Amino acid sequence: MVEDNNPTKDMGVRPPGDHNPRTDPTLDFNDKPFREMTPEDYEAIGFMAGLEVHQQLDTASKLFCRCPAGRRVTKVDAEVLRHMRPTLSELGEYDGTALMEFKTRKEIVYLLERGTVCTYEMDDTPPFEIDDEAVRIAIEMSELCNLNLVSELHVMRKQYLDGSIPTGFQRTAMVGLTGSIPFDVPELGVSRDLTIRQLSLEEDSCREVSDVGHRITFRTDRLGMPLTEMVTEPELMTPQELRAGAGVLAHLARATGKVRRGPGAARQDVNVSVAGGRRVEIKGVHHHRHLPFLVHTEAFRQLNLLRVKAELEKRGVSADLLPDPPSGLPWETSGLAMEADTILSSSDYHPVRQAIAQGDAVCAVRLPGFAGLLEHPTQPGLTFAHELSERVRVIACPMHSPFMIHSDAVDGGIAQSHWRELAAGLGAESGDAIVVVWAPEDDAATAAREVLNRARETLEGIPAETRQAHSNGTTGFERILPGPDRMYPDTDTPPLPIPDSTVAEVRAQLGETPWSRKARYLAAGLDQRAADALSVAPWADLFDELSPADGEVAKRVATTLEKRVPFHARQRTGRKPSTSRDVPGAATLEPLVRALETGEILPGALAWAVDRVLEDPKKPADAVLAEYRPRGEDQERLGEVVADVASRASRMEGRSRDTLMRWAMGEVLREFRGRVSPVEVAERLGSLLAPDASTGGDER
Ligand SMILES: [Zn+2]
Repeated sequence: MVEDNNPTKDMGVRPPGDHNPRTDPTLDFNDKPFREMTPEDYEAIGFMAGLEVHQQLDTASKLFCRCPAGRRVTKVDAEVLRHMRPTLSELGEYDGTALMEFKTRKEIVYLLERGTVCTYEMDDTPPFEIDDEAVRIAIEMSELCNLNLVSELHVMRKQYLDGSIPTGFQRTAMVGLTGSIPFDVPELGVSRDLTIRQLSLEEDSCREVSDVGHRITFRTDRLGMPLTEMVTEPELMTPQELRAGAGVLAHLARATGKVRRGPGAARQDVNVSVAGGRRVEIKGVHHHRHLPFLVHTEAFRQLNLLRVKAELEKRGVSADLLPDPPSGLPWETSGLAMEADTILSSSDYHPVRQAIAQGDAVCAVRLPGFAGLLEHPTQPGLTFAHELSERVRVIACPMHSPFMIHSDAVDGGIAQSHWRELAAGLGAESGDAIVVVWAPEDDAATAAREVLNRARETLEGIPAETRQAHSNGTTGFERILPGPDRMYPDTDTPPLPIPDSTVAEVRAQLGETPWSRKARYLAAGLDQRAADALSVAPWADLFDELSPADGEVAKRVATTLEKRVPFHARQRTGRKPSTSRDVPGAATLEPLVRALETGEILPGALAWAVDRVLEDPKKPADAVLAEYRPRGEDQERLGEVVADVASRASRMEGRSRDTLMRWAMGEVLREFRGRVSPVEVAERLGSLLAPDASTGGDER
């Protein structure tokens, strides 16, 4: 099941030009693998990136109707079939994306389940009042980002013709504008602010179930759920900074404690450009760890497309050599295309033979001056030809794969003699490339046009696209990046003033930001990693209430909570804790922390005692502590246990000393459950294990 179909994009407020501010591509850059790239290298190619984070809010209802939010269903009570048609914008133009979606001639099927969808989502009822809970969470997030709040919510419609929203538009409202958050990443040497351009409240789209040929199917349970969209300026200057930025924004959303968690609850889109290139959006990135390689790959895709462009210019190829075919079938109306069935009817190439056998059209297209360039590398394992085939795949929707072959392909496929016949038929010269596509007639006509369109766009530089992330780190064409005309006011919803009292209420209960928490934890003695983890953990408030007295106790309490609280939550509920409601109250654990501070129990006993309390919260703290306080007989017993374990260890041959030591420590400590000091155990074991174990183990 695909979850990537999130509606996104900016709210009509475009960055100052979609083009990279540097117009000079670094064509002579010495390309390197990802792991060898330095921040200076990314600066040299003019890399810059920004983020759009979509976060589902944990509200009871959807945004504009009273259907429940967050229910995931597979039951189907009804199906609805729709077709999308582009309408003229206010300016009398068609949006490029809308036209593209129209060209795909998709049949759109919605699967409805009674309990999760109503007539609003299907555009048969006007919107209800906007969900107050969602508005408050969006205000809270805007406040955390220091954004300027709008005084009135103006609901806008954002056009979506890919079918993911049955009405063809998404309702969206800007809540806050222009602010910044601290961006401190010590391991990257980064310490500055990150500008947040805006935060909007919008409706989620449908979940895609399948997309085969000209039929795409969606489920409507997710449709209309409230989302916030947070957009940064493109100020992230390396792939590693981008990942860190995504982490900061995710933590910020979680700091409210009012957002959904789990698969698909937070989705980020990234936009990337390099010098000479333009903003390209990558969607459907499922995990932050995939971000760096993806944007690195996109940066080099752009650089390589600019190299292809430069080579074409050197060869004297210009856009007027690649005119858009007049209407009709391109092989009848364009000098750059011809029907190829006759020539290829004797081909050994199976996909083409099969296409001819089932009555498909086979079309050859001449690309003047492109010889050799279709094999120019663009992404790992992919070449420029992939740019053409992706356009064809997405827009012409051929049912069978492969559906395209080209004259630069080195082996397999069509025989040289056939390529020569096609070249003669098309009047191609040695500097030209030929692309052959096959599909049912209408699709083949669309395919031939798209090959020419994409080839022509190469001369303009980087096409304005959204691209789909693949799990191997490459991307594929998804759709044309929509123009600014896709936003227009929603006539069904009056402007909604945000009362000062609402803002005051939200401010009064505003959570602490993750960065001020982190600063507090560093000051309390935690290290960077522990402070980072705790500042966004659902048990952060619990830690604060336990208020450990000094640095050593604080460290022990922080690591114990980090290890034991999620474990017990999973035992109890089957999932990790996501809000402070999922973690135990301070009262149960406080006596244990106080006992640690006074030395009544040793540091190693805390985790044992916490486990005991969480397993059996009704047991009095004193009874629990009694099990973990050091006892008089422990020292004597320690001698016996150490001797026994050491003798068993000496019989384990062929192990390294380290392995033996770890095993022996585990055996002894388990017996005493934190009532003896690990340092003392290590010393005692060390003197007993040393000679035999090391010679017996390592020299054999
Ligand atoms: Zn509804």
